[in-house]
Amino acid sequence: MKTSLVLINPWIYDFAAYDLWSKPLGLLYIGAYLRDCGFDIHLIDCLNVHHPMMPGTTSQRQPKRGLYGTGKFWRNKVPKPLLLKDIPRPYSRYGISPEAFTAELNIAGRPGAFLVTSLMTYWHLGVKEVIRLVRQNYPDVPVILGGIYARLCQDHAVTSSGADYVIADNNALLSLLDNIGLSAPNPIPKATPYPAFDLLSRIDYICILTSRGCPYRCSYCASHFLEPAYSRRDPLEVVEEILFWHRHYGVKDFAFYDDALLVQSDTHAAKLFEEIAKQALGIRFHTPNALHVREISPGIAILMHRSGFNTIRLGFETADFSLHHDLDNKVQTGDFEMAVNNLLNAGFARKDIGAYLLAGLPGQSVDSVVKTIDFVRRVGVMPYLAEYSPIPHTALWDKAVESSRYDLTGEPLFHNNTLIPCWDDSQKKEFPKLKQLVLEARMGVTAC
Ligand code: SF4
Repeated sequence: MKTSLVLINPWIYDFAAYDLWSKPLGLLYIGAYLRDCGFDIHLIDCLNVHHPMMPGTTSQRQPKRGLYGTGKFWRNKVPKPLLLKDIPRPYSRYGISPEAFTAELNIAGRPGAFLVTSLMTYWHLGVKEVIRLVRQNYPDVPVILGGIYARLCQDHAVTSSGADYVIADNNALLSLLDNIGLSAPNPIPKATPYPAFDLLSRIDYICILTSRGCPYRCSYCASHFLEPAYSRRDPLEVVEEILFWHRHYGVKDFAFYDDALLVQSDTHAAKLFEEIAKQALGIRFHTPNALHVREISPGIAILMHRSGFNTIRLGFETADFSLHHDLDNKVQTGDFEMAVNNLLNAGFARKDIGAYLLAGLPGQSVDSVVKTIDFVRRVGVMPYLAEYSPIPHTALWDKAVESSRYDLTGEPLFHNNTLIPCWDDSQKKEFPKLKQLVLEARMGVTAC
């Protein structure tokens, strides 16, 4: 009999969470790879909105789903951790009920090991909770923790997650399994298989990765730490993957997970978009990770429109260009207006073009955010506030630690952007006004 491995995507514990094309892509890649290595793979997705047991075992209301596969998660209010007791907002566990989770454990049976992933550093309570329940049911089965929290806060994960092993490098996984007596039955696969979306109970959309890493070095971003080398797939191979999901699973919505989708587009993204446009599949593309504004040439904008781009998010961050100079150097004066013009000329509607604006950065003033919202409003596209979350191993981390009244180094819960951890109380008081300005600006755009 094949050795089985159970992969777990944990719950989110937070003040808010929304399924904006969020799937555990890294875990699904690992699942596909281990399956090709000859293991029997079972997935427990705590964020499964289609879990068959949920409607019968909970008093929670069915989560509302939105357009293109996005929507709310199952949600259950839980007591706030003591450290966050002063935050005047309800705290919730997002995802399936613990009863549904335990039922999944029973269905999967006793595996050779549990592989748990992790994402945001401040979601570590979900990681800890799934590991606690796994231990309760299978105390002697090894638990391996990987993912972003495990890499960014490795010491914290080692001391507090309850996992037997915390891995910072997925390449080390096979040798770790080997060391604990779980050798791969098959030879190592030569090609990287498509991520195992087929393990999900339903595929609403597919997350696509055409490249890894990012050539930019923004001081607030951990991309370079997590993926030091920038590499790209053959664009025609990506086309094959898109066709595979569309033809075999009827998928219409695809979300690009790239950090730098449009960089050097003439040899990469342009080829991909051209080929997709030729096929006229009627599929839609979404970019929850921001696109680089300076890469949106007239030609790329036209190809994006022809190939089916539907949701466009631009990484604008701020209209304060001296701040750009200090933080990221990725946008120069005039780049944003040029990108928007190119998109409009290509046929996109203003309401489909969104711009992420960072707020809550250390040293950033409220007035600077107000001016940025106003700038985006005048350009005539949709502003989206992105509250800054301090991330270990980024260039801005030391400044964030210095400027925050929270113990960012000792407790990842304080990285939560809902806390706006690097602004003082007088700045935080202004935050509802910023949100209101954003809403008004968006209403102005949709009314056009
Ligand atoms: S461009 Fe985006 S992904 Fe690249 S370093 Fe900057 S924020 Fe990170």
